[in-house]
Amino acid sequence: MSTIFTKIVQGEIPSYKIAEDEKYYAFLDINPLAKGHTLVIPKEETDYFFDLDEDLLAGMMVFSKKIAKAIEKVVPCNRIGVAVLGLEVPHAHIHLIPINSEADISFSRPKLKLTEEEFLEIAGKIRAEL
Ligand code: 5GP
Repeated sequence: MSTIFTKIVQGEIPSYKIAEDEKYYAFLDINPLAKGHTLVIPKEETDYFFDLDEDLLAGMMVFSKKIAKAIEKVVPCNRIGVAVLGLEVPHAHIHLIPINSEADISFSRPKLKLTEEEFLEIAGKIRAEL
């Protein structure tokens, strides 16, 4: 059975897409800690980040760098924080989160509730910077 993220890659479940290439896909987290909170995944399904093939893992960071630079231009922040948890969805992913302080990347914090218009607007602005 496919993961929810594979269904997103295949377009079976909608997402606010930021970018994709042949190996990776980036989209907005639906329960964001901050505006612009983005997930980067390999299209190939692997549960645990550190089980990824070395080249795929390294390339995922390079792909994430481009996305992070675009998010920075759109969301005012000190920098883009990077987190890997994988406790909820068994498909390796990197969280890219605009942060100003350590507390901004705490996953215990309440998530933002954004409207569809807000998600579409932020995704469009980030895509325009790529
Ligand atoms: P983790 O596995 O890293 O602990 O958390 C999974 C993350 O994926 C959470 O931040 C959650 O909001 C996000 N997420 C879970 N399901 C979906 C979904 O269907 N669409 C999107 N865009 N994000 C999701």
